[in-house]
Amino acid sequence: MKCLRAILRVKWQDRVPNSEILRRAKMTGMESLLMRNQLRWCGHLVRMESFRSLTSKRQHRKTRPKPSYDYTYDSNGNLYCASCNRTFKSKFGFASHARAHARRDQGMS
Ligand SMILES: [Zn+2]
Repeated sequence: MKCLRAILRVKWQDRVPNSEILRRAKMTGMESLLMRNQLRWCGHLVRMESFRSLTSKRQHRKTRPKPSYDYTYDSNGNLYCASCNRTFKSKFGFASHARAHARRDQGMS
């Protein structure tokens, strides 16, 4: 309010009420300004909801494609690479190796 009075060059001695200051400045007052901003934010959230919500993320995770490699086991039940016959102690190591093969194959062609 103090700023508006300064802008409109109204001194407190002029004894102009706040309502008149707001009218002259074509403003609706602090409370309604804040309310309008809150409403705007709510509208923003509601519009975002459809494609940014947790449920849509969860749905996206569900529909993620399966990894392109298959686990290959030898007769002893160990994981091994079909391309270079290397054996692995863990699925994790195998997966990493399989991805490396896929990258290399992509690079060649
Ligand atoms: Zn290999």
